[in-house]
Amino acid sequence: MKILILPGDGIGAEITVATRLALEVLDRKFALGLEFVERDIGMAAIEKGLDPMPDAIMEEVRATPFTMLGPVSTMEYPPEAQHLPSPSSLIRDNLDLFANIRPSRTRPGVPSVAKQMDLVIVRENTEGFYAVRTMFEGKGEFMPTPDLAMSMRKITVQGSRRIAKVAFDLARVRRKKVTVVHKGNVLRITDGLFLREVRSVAQDYPDVETEEIIVDAMAALLIRRPESFDVVVTTNLFGDILSDEAAELSGGLGLGGSINASNDHAVAQAAHGSAPDIANQNKANPTALVISAQMLLKWHANRSGNNQLASAAAHLETALDDVLADPANHTVDIGGNAGTDEFGEALARAVDQ
Ligand code: ATP
Repeated sequence: MKILILPGDGIGAEITVATRLALEVLDRKFALGLEFVERDIGMAAIEKGLDPMPDAIMEEVRATPFTMLGPVSTMEYPPEAQHLPSPSSLIRDNLDLFANIRPSRTRPGVPSVAKQMDLVIVRENTEGFYAVRTMFEGKGEFMPTPDLAMSMRKITVQGSRRIAKVAFDLARVRRKKVTVVHKGNVLRITDGLFLREVRSVAQDYPDVETEEIIVDAMAALLIRRPESFDVVVTTNLFGDILSDEAAELSGGLGLGGSINASNDHAVAQAAHGSAPDIANQNKANPTALVISAQMLLKWHANRSGNNQLASAAAHLETALDDVLADPANHTVDIGGNAGTDEFGEALARAVDQ
């Protein structure tokens, strides 16, 4: 299987090197037959006179089952590249990656605000308040007069039903509970539609417990009783915010892994951004990208029934837990002083065992 690596901007190069090292050892250990290919996107592509997401690479992503996408920092691109869609939005739109799946859990040895938590936020990824995701043409954010700015929010029946299904399917193989987060008391039409459709999908899953929580209460309850949540399903912006909160509760943004998935495609991408403040300083925590890669291996294993791949994914998760259990391997963001490269080497050794 080909693994397409797109390091991206900021800390992207450093965290992809560490993750690739672990995957290479995993490949040898489990004879997975992985073939690693790296391509320049973002600033590295712009410096070669190309678009941040060259068409040829987009085609390669479409044709490759396993893409590992680093963070991109479009705000730092030169003006002529600023108006172009970002690599992550092009990939998301082209492959219709409607589900952003973001797990957060406490891990032995990792300092965390939450005492215990193990949840997954299933965030709708193609609609909501995001200006470029709401319209066929033009943007869902506009200024009719200099002192009036407006934003449109898109919620559809199809979008709500398909994200609900992902959440309920996931809950079935976890602790069988889905928390639906909304603001239906205020956004009565849009979140009303979302709620109605999620409730309708829930009827097909009588074995899964469903609860509904208003988003502001959820922000508080995540802190008060994070251990009580299993799968959380919500709209785009709420999911974006709550998943950062959950990652922080579990130890920090550097632990926030995620995949963006459709029914037949998925891309591994850490939930955090390009962290320009620590780029090229050997300080970045590669954990989020490693978790993302591990999730993608598992996603493929589940779809293909490939037991070897499933074993490899489980082994990578255990190796990562073992590495994180030892404070000597902790990067600065989680209170240690190990470099990104040291973390990567420790993980490679743990995978080899
Ligand atoms: P975006 O808008 O793309 O989400 P951002 O600048 O809001 O980007 P991040 O790039 O995720 O947010 O960074 C937020 C903070 O978290 C920064 O201080 C950054 O250094 C830190 N951070 C993010 N990812 C990591 C990581 N993998 N390792 C260590 N620190 C990180």
